[in-house]
Amino acid sequence: MATADNLDTPIAKKIDLSKGKLPFKGKGLSGCVDINSKSIEEQRRYGVERLAAAYRIFSSHGFDLGLVGHISFRDPEFKDCFWINPLGYHFSQMKVSDLCLMNQNGELVYGKERTGDAAQSIHSNIYKSRPDINAVAHAHPMYGKTFSTLNKELKPITQDSCAFYKRTATFTDYDGVANGPDEGINIAKALADKDFLILQNHGILTTGTMVETTLWYFLNMEEACKSQLLAEAVGEPIVIPDKVAIHTRDYVANDLSAFASIQPLLDVLWEKEPEFLD
Ligand SMILES: [Zn+2]
Repeated sequence: MATADNLDTPIAKKIDLSKGKLPFKGKGLSGCVDINSKSIEEQRRYGVERLAAAYRIFSSHGFDLGLVGHISFRDPEFKDCFWINPLGYHFSQMKVSDLCLMNQNGELVYGKERTGDAAQSIHSNIYKSRPDINAVAHAHPMYGKTFSTLNKELKPITQDSCAFYKRTATFTDYDGVANGPDEGINIAKALADKDFLILQNHGILTTGTMVETTLWYFLNMEEACKSQLLAEAVGEPIVIPDKVAIHTRDYVANDLSAFASIQPLLDVLWEKEPEFLD
């Protein structure tokens, strides 16, 4: 079992999570900052705050069964390392100080306890193959995992589900728990240049340039799976035509829109559970 001794790694000595804290922006959107214009310390602190918050939001949506599911954030300075949950911590209790930093070799470089093998395999291989991705979310939510068993694509049947139109891949080679290196490599290959992934007989996965967008897409993808399952259970849903679906997707599911859409949920957390910032 990894211990606090890992805090002595060369990278850990350069990281101080107590630094870079920005004041709460206030409710709504007007106080949002462009975090990319801030210092590395501020970018890191901002990212781990949103990551701890994302775990709590996962829990509030019921994506917290046992040990499955993980969300990660690529460190803005040490870009081959990513922040993620230590195995076995309940998502509803996640705090900034609980998060651990893993490198692509599976070594704990900051934190007290390492993440699980499946999380390591999936997230490290996606970051390795996609330098444009800075956050990844995966879980086995009820509707997402149920939809994944049907070998179907998410269709643009509602304004919201247009978000996934022609941006989603399917990983069809389920081969047991993704706790070895090969499964993560194959999952990253299946994602290829897409943003979202249905893992057949397993669950769903979203990516993004920020924790906020990745989290919003995940919540929305679970809703899209639910919506299509319900519609197809009782009839044949009307599919939005290709051009309209693409236009709608680009309007409702761009990064700015996703970033703005998640802010109210984060605001609630800031007010009701500020201890996640510890
Ligand atoms: Zn999984």
